[in-house]
Amino acid sequence: MYRVKYNNKDYGEFKKLSDALYERDALFFCNFDYDLLVECDLENKYENMVLPPFPEKRPKGRIKGTKVNKKEREGEILFNHKIKKFYIQKGDETIGQYDTMTEAFYYKKILMANKWDKNILKTNITKKIEVNIIIDPAVEYEVQLNFCPKCKNRLKIGETECPSCGINIEEYLFNR
Ligand SMILES: [Zn+2]
Repeated sequence: MYRVKYNNKDYGEFKKLSDALYERDALFFCNFDYDLLVECDLENKYENMVLPPFPEKRPKGRIKGTKVNKKEREGEILFNHKIKKFYIQKGDETIGQYDTMTEAFYYKKILMANKWDKNILKTNITKKIEVNIIIDPAVEYEVQLNFCPKCKNRLKIGETECPSCGINIEEYLFNR
């Protein structure tokens, strides 16, 4: 059996080493947040890997500098109490303003996968859906586009015409 342990907390037992390693990575990837873990779609790179047997006893204690490097490498999600929004902090840079941590996490993941090239955010069109509302099938819900579907320019809330390429967004979406 392989056990995933971190800061004296137990995170489960696994028969396969590849499963344990995957769980460990996923936990770190999601900052040990189980809500995020459920949505985590990290690829299991250990599945078809030949893994060496580990020595029975390993020196105890945290590996030096991992925490600092991780923050530097992967950035972190922080909360701005003044405006009540989550944002991504990477080095000296602050990126975005998000209503939920899940949303911030989603963008952080995209940035990480694209070597922190912020242009990638322009090409990821997302629609915001309030997750906690009770859906009434008789009601038509408004979906807010964050980016122009044609030129990917960022849109302000409620904007009906793209300020960059000039298209009427509704016409563009429905008359194609
Ligand atoms: Zn446009």
